[in-house]
Amino acid sequence: MDEHCIEAVELLYHYLDGELTDERRSLIQHHLDDCPPCFEAYDFEAELRIIVRQKCRDRVPEALVLRVAAALRQVETASE
Ligand SMILES: [Zn+2]
Repeated sequence: MDEHCIEAVELLYHYLDGELTDERRSLIQHHLDDCPPCFEAYDFEAELRIIVRQKCRDRVPEALVLRVAAALRQVETASE
């Protein structure tokens, strides 16, 4: 990794968080176009974020929670 890469990787996290100015964003975009290792790192991070975001949104369905709660209640009443 050269100096630009280190800089780019550091900025990458802000880039992914959408915390960069347009100027810096285009700088990174430019570096990513020229530098396959950084592009791959970006790609991985971007995918990871998307996955995490999806996982956070897809919480446990309420129907499942209710079913589990009902099952637990049944177990409780059966043991009484
Ligand atoms: Zn690079």
